[in-house]
Amino acid sequence: MSHGDLAGRVALVTGASSGIGQAAARALATAGAHVVVAARRADRLSRLAEEFGANAHVVAGDVALEQDAVAMVGQTIERFGQIDVLVNSAGMIDAGGLEKLSLERWRRVIEVNLFGTINVCKAALPHMKARKSGDIINISSTAGRRAAGLMGAYSTSKFGLTGFTEGLRQEMGDHGVRVSIIEPGATETEVADGISDPAMREAMEQHVSRDGAMQPADIADAIMFMLRLPRRANVSQILIRPTDDTNPM
Ligand code: NDP
Repeated sequence: MSHGDLAGRVALVTGASSGIGQAAARALATAGAHVVVAARRADRLSRLAEEFGANAHVVAGDVALEQDAVAMVGQTIERFGQIDVLVNSAGMIDAGGLEKLSLERWRRVIEVNLFGTINVCKAALPHMKARKSGDIINISSTAGRRAAGLMGAYSTSKFGLTGFTEGLRQEMGDHGVRVSIIEPGATETEVADGISDPAMREAMEQHVSRDGAMQPADIADAIMFMLRLPRRANVSQILIRPTDDTNPM
């Protein structure tokens, strides 16, 4: 039997094989929750789940595929009987703007970041609605507020996520489900790895790993803050940036 203020709660975290999702899964497990970790790389997920012991379950899959998203939620219910918390952290970046980046890559970024989140939310909703309780936290980005020319596909996906999340918040408020979005700035993770152009990948790596960038645990702290508020209060949006990020928003 686990102890902690989230003992007995069940969380599904996508993108848990790395970065922000992994930190969120750790924070939830530390607080006593049962945690289902999802992403494509099963080996990494298994290593993480070993840390959590019997409180964890692994589901390997691609959030962009509806059947995989359905399986993530389905296995959560099968294994732990309910879903209280859904953190959608699965995501990717590609860069290059409309001229340089292929439409195939544009589609992939939007499919993973936007439809991936929509797919998992759609699968989880009936379970949360039936119990009149639940928390959905979608990880967006400052790029969902401030577009940058060479990040067109990524910004499009994250602006879309803002609209989707706010719509879902309004749809679900009456059903006891809190829906919220977190918009992080530069956080040291592996997110630059997915960028196809080597020069842009290098620039993004430097941006997210520079001194002063946030750590994944900082974003996990924001998630835990949201979850720990009384259920009547929904922090529906958190913009969290490195202190030295002095760009206007
Ligand atoms: P990482 O690359 O470290 O983690 C991304 C995670 O998403 C991995 O676990 C990856 O696992 C998973 N993932 C990627 N594609 C898929 C897919 N199709 N299906 C399932 N899982 C997938 O990056 P971050 O932790 O930084 O990224 C997490 C979120 O935070 C993203 O939405 C990102 O846009 C956002 N963000 C990051 C910022 C930063 O500076 N790092 C700033 C603002 C927002 P696997 O490859 O095993 O599938």
